[in-house]
Amino acid sequence: MAAPKFLRRAARKLKRLQQDLSRKTKGSNRREKAVVKVARAHARVADTRRDWQHKLSTAIIRDNQAVYVEDLCVVGLGRTRLAKSVHDAGWAGFTSMLEYKAARHGRTFARVDRFFPSTRMCSDCGRINEKMALDVRSWVCPCGSTHDRDVNAAQNIKAAGQADFNDRGAQVRPAVMPAPRDEAVTHPDAACSTRSVEGISVL
Ligand SMILES: [Zn+2]
Repeated sequence: MAAPKFLRRAARKLKRLQQDLSRKTKGSNRREKAVVKVARAHARVADTRRDWQHKLSTAIIRDNQAVYVEDLCVVGLGRTRLAKSVHDAGWAGFTSMLEYKAARHGRTFARVDRFFPSTRMCSDCGRINEKMALDVRSWVCPCGSTHDRDVNAAQNIKAAGQADFNDRGAQVRPAVMPAPRDEAVTHPDAACSTRSVEGISVL
């Protein structure tokens, strides 16, 4: 699910203001003003994103009986190229929203280990393929299956989340779930592949 346009627009505006700021002379009046503008734009982007994440997480929890997310080590990514887009996407904050809303509404919630090769594993045959570049959106497994990158990853995460939940599940939550509905899977891969806040994929 792509981030709404207004969020991307806000991010673009922030970038432009930061560029303006970098051209101002230190200690100047103009620079002071530019600093304030950047700070305001920052706050606006953060507010807008939080608001959008609240709406999205509420909708996901409302419409799904179980939600599985891929856990990313944002700290571990700290010095990589991916770090910026992961931070942009606010993945950690978003998944914690999902988690507490799931708890509040009696939904299943599980995080899948960040070392799980969700993207390059074939959801049909289980083969783990070579790592692929971030711009590869679809691929063909040697077994013949054609995969959409995000859909395949989501299927793997869902299966792993279910397996993990079943392992621990019996004693944790034996209750009969009310009206089993669809299950949502979210994973941050799409967010990593773009420079903006968009790209949380939801099945
Ligand atoms: Zn395969």
